[in-house]
This record gives sequence, structure tokens and C-alpha cells, in this order.
Amino acid sequence: AKEKGRNTYRFYAAKMNAQSTEQLMLESALRHALERGELEMHYQPKMNLQTQRIVGVEALMRWRHPVLGMIPPVQFIPIAEELGLIVSMGKWALERACADALAWQKHGLPEVLTSVNLSPRQFESRTLVADVKAILESSGLDPSLLELEITESAMMANPEHAAKLLRTIRDMGVGLAIDDFGTGYSSLSYLKHFPLSTVKIDRSFINDLSQDADARALIDGIITLAHGLRMKVVAEGVETPVQFNYLHSHGCDEAQGYWLCKPVPADEARDFMARHLRT
Ligand code: C2E
Ligand code: CA
Ligand code: CA
Ligand code: CA
Repeated sequence: AKEKGRNTYRFYAAKMNAQSTEQLMLESALRHALERGELEMHYQPKMNLQTQRIVGVEALMRWRHPVLGMIPPVQFIPIAEELGLIVSMGKWALERACADALAWQKHGLPEVLTSVNLSPRQFESRTLVADVKAILESSGLDPSLLELEITESAMMANPEHAAKLLRTIRDMGVGLAIDDFGTGYSSLSYLKHFPLSTVKIDRSFINDLSQDADARALIDGIITLAHGLRMKVVAEGVETPVQFNYLHSHGCDEAQGYWLCKPVPADEARDFMARHLRT
């Protein structure tokens, strides 16, 4: 038993070393990812449930490492956040997304709303407003075609400051969405303090919808509340026709998820939207 204990210890030590080595490798690789052109933006279309038209896309970052391949955001966003790299990466994401949106327009597609994720660290950055302004001006994209997605927890870290910052951004004509709604600790009544255009219902509620009456009650409640505050409701992570139909018949405004389209590179997103127009 003693022998076994020692082996177990060695096993764990080796595993932990491997993990921290991998972590260090990712960290140092991520420091160069942007300048080496390894980052990409993918886009996931959103459908208006009434008109069944594509009305927007969510821009999602991808890291294609030359050796390790595609590294998912859940792995690299937290590192980027921790190292402070997220501010420059996020600025790049915003530039890329605005440029792609404009290219689609020039290609003859109707205008869609482009939503870009903001990390908590970016949200705290002193240069956020100036950065967004500069990117909109240099790209020439109409501010009303841009939306920023901010998580509930990022807003709630300092609600007074958040409300002020959000009003400044709203006054520039840019839309604001609260992301992953329902997972944080903010009370619903807090919503009215923020100048939000959109509430995104977290994927976990959509996932539970068919087998959990509580999830359905929450979804219905969020839709009613958001509409009462004149906000639009988007459901994320819609994977089945059952979920799609439920959301449609319960007044949800838009849906996004694998059932419609997974996140794809800019060209594919453009082709998807073009195909969708013809049918
Ligand atoms: P999020 O903002 O909640 O984005 C939605 C996530 O759900 C995306 O994961 C998307 O690919 C995934 N998804 C979409 N439809 C479905 C579905 O039907 N089923 C399932 N199971 N998943 C679906 P992704 O792209 O891996 O991104 C994960 C998270 O990383 C995002 O969650 C966001 O918090 C963060 N992230 C991604 N791109 C950026 C970025 O450019 N900036 C920042 N700050 N964060 C980003
Ligand atoms: Ca999001
Ligand atoms: Ca989300
Ligand atoms: Ca989510």
C-alpha cells in the first residue's frame, strides 16, 4: 500500500508538472499570437424568430496555433485576461469584426447587427470608449450596426461605474447586450439601471428547457421582464427544433445556436447569409 501511495504521488506530480508546463507554453505562445496572425474571427448568425431572417452575427475569437491547432476560447481567453493581453486582442477583434461587416455590405448583403464580446478586463480599461470610437471612425461602420456583449458579472463588479460607461457607449449609437443572463448574481430589478438593448439568455437554460419546468419558467420570466423594459431577447445555444419552437411561441425575439448554424469563418458566414436570402 505504501508503494502504491508513492506511485500515486509520483503520478500526480508528473501530471501537475505537465499541466503547468502546458500552461506556460500556452502563455508564452499567446503573447505572440496576435502579431503572428494566428487569431481569427468566426461568426455565428442570429435569426429573428418572427421573420425567420438572419438579422445579426456574434463575432467569436479563434486561435489557430501552428502546432497545437485550434485552441478553444475557454482555454485561451482566461489566460489572455490574466496576462492583460485581452485588451489588445479585443481591440483587434473589434477592428476585424467591423471590417468584415463592412465587406459583407459591399458584397451586397443587407445590413446585419454585429455583436462583439467584451471581457471584464476590457470593460475596465480606461481607453475603452476612445478605442471603440476610433475603430468605428476608421472603419466607417454605422455605430447602430455594432453591439457589445458584456457579461452580467462584469457589469455587477461596479454597477455605478458600469451604468455610466454604458450610457456613454449607448450615446455613441452602439447597442449593448447583457451576456449569459441568468447565471450571475444580479437581481432582475438591476436591469433597469443599465441602458441595454439586448438580453441574452444563457445557454444552460435553453439546454434544460425540454426537461425542466423551472428553466421554462425562468425563460418566460426573462422574456416578459426584458420586453417590459423595451429590450430585445436573444436565446443562445439553440440546438433542437423543440427549443427553437418553444422560444418562437413564447415571444423570444432571436435565436442563435448549432440548430441554425455554428460559428464559421467570415466567408462562410457571408455565404450562409447570401443563401438564406435567396430561399
Ligand atoms: P459566449 O459569449 O457565451 O459565446 C457563445 C458560445 O456558445 C460560443 O462558444 C459558441 O460557439 C457557443 N455555441 C453557440 N451555439 C451553440 C450551441 O448550439 N450549443 C453549444 N453547446 N454551444 C454553442 P466559443 O466560441 O467557444 O466561446 C466561448 C466563450 O469565449 C464565449 O462565450 C465568450 O465568453 C468567450 N469569447 C469568445 N470570443 C471572444 C472574444 O472575441 N472576446 C472575448 N472577450 N471573449 C470571447
Ligand atoms: Ca457572447
Ligand atoms: Ca453568451
Ligand atoms: Ca454562455
